Amino acid sequence: MSHITEVFADEIIKKMHYFYADQLIEPAPNGAIFRAKTDDATITAYRSKKVLFQGRNPEKEARIWQGFDASSSAPTEPNSDPTSQRPNLSSNTSVNKGMTVVQGTHIGSDESGTGDYFGPVTACAVFVHAEQIDMLRSIGIQDSKAIKDDTIKTLAGQLVDMKIPFASVVLRNEKYNTLQRSGWSQGKIKAMLHHTVLEKVREQTKVENGIVPIVIDQFCVPKVYASYLRSEGLSIPDDTHFMTKAETHSIAVAAASVIARLRFVEEMDKLSEELGQTLIKGASQKVDKQIAAIIREYGVGKLDAVAKVHFANTKKAEKWL
Ligand code: MN
Repeated sequence: MSHITEVFADEIIKKMHYFYADQLIEPAPNGAIFRAKTDDATITAYRSKKVLFQGRNPEKEARIWQGFDASSSAPTEPNSDPTSQRPNLSSNTSVNKGMTVVQGTHIGSDESGTGDYFGPVTACAVFVHAEQIDMLRSIGIQDSKAIKDDTIKTLAGQLVDMKIPFASVVLRNEKYNTLQRSGWSQGKIKAMLHHTVLEKVREQTKVENGIVPIVIDQFCVPKVYASYLRSEGLSIPDDTHFMTKAETHSIAVAAASVIARLRFVEEMDKLSEELGQTLIKGASQKVDKQIAAIIREYGVGKLDAVAKVHFANTKKAEKWL
């Protein structure tokens, strides 16, 4: 086992954080921004801007980032090193072309609820014509994280009124927990939900539009996304582009984030009504206390129907019982 330590610019460390989003080891050690593990190395990025690569082949992992231009918008294929194990997707899937794609007619997808202990995971894909982009921006469509939940309903209503083609899906907690226990990572669950809604929208819009490029808000390395699909006998459609923070660049992804959030909020309202208490979003310590209250009232079995039980919160709730 060998190691390499190198200092990187904040920008690069941010890109690394996104790049390894699906391979993070949590919690990160003291003083670290994140720690991630790949087949080749464990990567630890410290607030001091030092990044430590250690493991079987740290050189290979470090090489991805050495000499990487911080202004480049392509975190997934930072160099063309043929020995790198990074995404080697076909030429019609890319990250670089994404910036041009978002200016024209395209489909975008996003998900919601993955960071919330209670409630489902939802996903949505939206088809946007080039001519609609300005109008959608003007009504305030943007990343749902920047919009209050009350406003989400109004905005999503406007999208429906405008007859923007979209498809959405809600993965309820029982099903989520079953898949998780059968060995699906959250990354695979997300990939399958994105794929499902993207295919639905493609189906709805294909006659008039032929092949329309797809932009996916990137939550894992494209190669990993492809491997999730492959494990279910599926593949990434042609002309698919992965972008980090896609909701800021693509109005279709932003609109998808709004509808996915709406569906999540609606489901949370329903579950809250059933339980007779307003479920807390997120995964904070407040959530731990609420879990204890639910266990006391309904028994621990109830969690399967309302929560993502593999989250650490389930264990943490024990001390509040
Ligand atoms: Mn997203």
